[in-house]
Amino acid sequence: MSSARPRFVDYHCHLDLYPDYASQFLACTENRIATLAVTTTPRAWPMNRELAESSPFVRVGLGFHPQLVAERSSEFHLFEKYFPESRFIGEVGLDASPQHYRSYSEQKKIFEQILNLCARQGGKILSVHSVRATRDVLKLIERLLPLDSSRVVLHWFGGTKAEAQLASNLGCYFSVNAEMLTKDARRAVVGTLPLNRILTETDGPFTNTLDQQSKPSDVPRVITMLQSVFGIEEEELRKQVLANLDNLESVSNI
Ligand code: MN
Repeated sequence: MSSARPRFVDYHCHLDLYPDYASQFLACTENRIATLAVTTTPRAWPMNRELAESSPFVRVGLGFHPQLVAERSSEFHLFEKYFPESRFIGEVGLDASPQHYRSYSEQKKIFEQILNLCARQGGKILSVHSVRATRDVLKLIERLLPLDSSRVVLHWFGGTKAEAQLASNLGCYFSVNAEMLTKDARRAVVGTLPLNRILTETDGPFTNTLDQQSKPSDVPRVITMLQSVFGIEEEELRKQVLANLDNLESVSNI
């Protein structure tokens, strides 16, 4: 089964935050959903990595969530410790929403350090949070992280069309979820993104699908919703996302 091709992609899901997390890891492989299991604190790294060993469809991201920076910046030494062994980095980024703005300058410091670490080692793939902070996130990436040796996936992109253009020019990918696509203004921005940079995600368990917590097996719904955004038929979109995944992960793993 491990050599089977994935059918769908969930490039941002918090598998370790479900009560039945171990079976969520297994379900990704059973359902052939290539999943990026992001984490919010480096403390979660060892357990996630161990679970992923028997789940060939799951990649694990080493994370430091911007919303946790205020309380957990003392854990950054753990991030540095595990950093060399992780190809995937996430969830990381910036959050300038009112509840988290107090820690914004500290968030920036930590995000800068993470980008510097990535630039130094190379071969990293990042899943980046950018709530009310698209400009700053893009500025820091442009300044600190060469995207020929690492790659950035902007998760739940909330920027404008102009910012989308900027991010595309830098070489960023975009992971899109169903909740984003329920809003007309967001759909209009997503429709301007380059098709060869689109990935799908659920951001489970933080989103709902049909009044239940979303899980990776709900991700085909994103493909269904993207049909009308791009005017492209479902099967073609599904294949495009798999091709995008291959391209994204072709960045050499140093
Ligand atoms: Mn998330």
